[in-house]
Amino acid sequence: AGSLTVAELAEKLTKSTSEIIKKLMGLGVMATKNEELDKTSIELIAHDFGVEVEEEEVIDELDIERYEEADDPEDLQERAPVVTIMGHVDHGKTTLLDGIRKTKVTDTEAGGITQHIGAYQVEEDGKRVTFLDTPGHAAFTTMRARGAQATDITILVVAADDGVMPQTVEALNHAKAAEVPIIVAVNKTDKENANPDRVMQELTEYELVPEAWGGDTIFVNVSAVNGGGIDELLEMILLVAEIEELKANPSKRAQGTVVEAELDRGRGPVATLLVQGGTLKVGDPIVVGYTYGRVRAMMSDVGLRVTEAGPSTPVEVTGLNGVPQAGDQFLVFADEKKAKQIGEGRAIRAKEAQRKQTSRVSLDDLYNQI
Ligand code: GDP
Ligand code: MG
Repeated sequence: AGSLTVAELAEKLTKSTSEIIKKLMGLGVMATKNEELDKTSIELIAHDFGVEVEEEEVIDELDIERYEEADDPEDLQERAPVVTIMGHVDHGKTTLLDGIRKTKVTDTEAGGITQHIGAYQVEEDGKRVTFLDTPGHAAFTTMRARGAQATDITILVVAADDGVMPQTVEALNHAKAAEVPIIVAVNKTDKENANPDRVMQELTEYELVPEAWGGDTIFVNVSAVNGGGIDELLEMILLVAEIEELKANPSKRAQGTVVEAELDRGRGPVATLLVQGGTLKVGDPIVVGYTYGRVRAMMSDVGLRVTEAGPSTPVEVTGLNGVPQAGDQFLVFADEKKAKQIGEGRAIRAKEAQRKQTSRVSLDDLYNQI
């Protein structure tokens, strides 16, 4: 609702301004037609005329729960786990992500062209695993700061020749705070000076105790450069996913989180969305963070055009009229008018907020400096 003048309220209620002014006088408020009314007065007067004011449509966080369709337990289906990789700098996060993708994505899938859309899926034993290709910190801090929980499992990469380092500890603390299960990938085991046992010992101090030592943390020795241990790592991910019983309802309007977004010269705003519930379809009216639009085209992680994307699927989307931010949430609306109304309201609110806080340093900025 925000604030309205007496005249604006009169128009909304299809009453004359003098009728509104009279009502206000009845409430002990003397007002002219250009006077701005507060929320309570607006509600009281509207109520007097038999109109219930809807709660504010413009909200800081996209209030998914308020608009999404309820899940019928019968509609819930198993979904792929969403995995992020964290760890100290140079311990091999990027190499491992590339290594998993190389060993698992067949070249024939898209004529050998692999796209960078910030996330990808691989298959192991006929089951899918989704990897978010975002820096671990960004995935956790921005997404969590916005209340989004996109990660189901985190892989903590620790180089076997270097051991536990400050960012290893930081990463495991993030994962613990988010209550996300951790699988430890002890990397660089191909190196001569690799010492996986030392990594286990050091992590024991942080309550990550290997199963072999009576704990319940899964450790996998890998080599990101030669692909060693990657199959086992994927199997362990699927095992943890099974324990977590990850489920989603594919048969409703889609909802999820922005993985990354940018302005493309030719295509306009382009966003990689991770569908978390429901199925996203071409043509869907959608509100994404503080922007909105209609899904014009969708591209999969291997560069194929798709018309639908179900739970745990990352997909690159065009058709938005602005560039959202990583960690923003999105929701499909049944009706384009509603999406537009909410989207426009949020866009205005975002602009106002931006004006007010230009000097604020975000958590992201801080992490980017590390
Ligand atoms: P990040 O900072 O965690 O993303 O680390 P990178 O993936 O960029 O790796 C840092 C360096 O370690 C690069 O030179 C990699 O080639 C090397 N590296 C990564 N994984 C392995 C591994 O399993 N074995 C060996 N020998 N080198 C690795
Ligand atoms: Mg890297």
